[in-house]
Amino acid sequence: MKVTVFGTGYVGLVTGACLAEVGHHVVCVDVDADKVARLKNGQIPIYEPGLDGIVISNYEEGRLEFTTDAKHAVAHGTMQFIAVGTPPDEDGSADLQYVLAVASTIAEYMDDTKIVVTKSTVPVGTADRVRSAMMTGLKARSTDLTYHVASNPEFLKEGAAVADFMKPDRIVVGTDSKDVEDAMRELYAAFNRNHDRMLFMDVRSAELTKYAANAMLATKISFINEVANIAEYVGADIERVRQGIGSDPRIGYKFIYPGCGYGGSCFPKDVKALASTARQVGYEAKLLDAVELVNEHQKTRLFDKLHTYFNQDLAGKTIALWGLAFKPNTDDMREASSRVFIEALWEAGASVKAYDPEAMNETQRIYGQRPDLQLMGTKEACLIDADALVVCTEWKAFWAPDFNLVKESLKTPLIVDGRNIYNPHQLEDLGIDYIGIGRSN
Ligand code: NAD
Repeated sequence: MKVTVFGTGYVGLVTGACLAEVGHHVVCVDVDADKVARLKNGQIPIYEPGLDGIVISNYEEGRLEFTTDAKHAVAHGTMQFIAVGTPPDEDGSADLQYVLAVASTIAEYMDDTKIVVTKSTVPVGTADRVRSAMMTGLKARSTDLTYHVASNPEFLKEGAAVADFMKPDRIVVGTDSKDVEDAMRELYAAFNRNHDRMLFMDVRSAELTKYAANAMLATKISFINEVANIAEYVGADIERVRQGIGSDPRIGYKFIYPGCGYGGSCFPKDVKALASTARQVGYEAKLLDAVELVNEHQKTRLFDKLHTYFNQDLAGKTIALWGLAFKPNTDDMREASSRVFIEALWEAGASVKAYDPEAMNETQRIYGQRPDLQLMGTKEACLIDADALVVCTEWKAFWAPDFNLVKESLKTPLIVDGRNIYNPHQLEDLGIDYIGIGRSN
């Protein structure tokens, strides 16, 4: 099938490459000329396991094209996917300007029937706004071309995006048209062979499904973090509690890991956007507001623990930091807990020596060159002359370090473990002070 994808970010690029991988002809269009030029040169702007291989091979085999030429892109696809960003507006609602700009572009250039599919995460009612933006564009051209607007929210996880797209848990499609349903079944046939993963529903329910999924996951994290904080006060160990509750199949072990807060481009913005949607219709989403508040507080915990350990005086101290990305297997730093921690350290007069397997360039791009931030080539290099070690992201490379080396290198034998990846008793035996999340040791 002929497919056009607007946006070559995490979602657009993965969607385009995976659809091309199974044989569809895909044109990816972006307004960022630099990004498009890099993609044409085989440079993948983001780190995502398995993505570079399929982008390069499908590009070379002619099934995947990159362009900034919107007219050419619109002419190509029967299906037009919108996968542009929907960042939070000042009031927390989703900013739809990029989505609606694409709708107008499609209306400006289309010359046959199109199926317009929103893959971006968009609030309930956005399909109506896309439809009306297109209607306005087509009226201006005095044409009566027809089009469908459908919703197909994306559930991929950064860090496993290609695998998730190739083997989705479900493919949600919001449409009231049998033609769109048939087209979507054909498009996704290769991803739907093992069993039927396609869930068709009305557009509004599809739009809400995506927010409900992310809000549920964020709620699980804030819930366990809240219990972890209580555990610290009452002298319990959250890791025992986590296993104790996870053993109940109604609860399960997944996604109840305590830590230093969730980040990324999706959970924080989607929880806020859903609460904002609720407010707009006169409903106060108290649980969602609390999920967000708990998370913001959790992101400050690492600094508070370190500050307390050093008697409220971090001025002049150097902190070794392992992990900058908001989670492992990505270079994405959007809303990362590490940023809250680093900025608090700077505020207190401390400096940082940091290492991350993939997010160092992104860190450099965000903060530029500054004397209180040193990005080191290895995790061991961060430790030299540092006062303490803090772990912010649970990359596999950090799970089994040489603790004797850590102890010898640090000025103070202290590890603050923001993801509870170490065994407190093992570290205690080695003479290393250990502070985790929700652990009374
Ligand atoms: P992103 O910021 O990485 O990429 C968006 C891209 O769209 C950018 O390259 C930008 O230049 C481009 N763009 C903006 N306006 C354009 C236009 N008019 N025409 C063509 N391109 C344009 O965003 P992302 O992380 O891929 O997210 C996209 C959407 O998917 C968001 O709504 C997000 O909430 C949702 N989503 C993201 C994830 C994720 O893990 N990142 C997962 C599921 C859903």
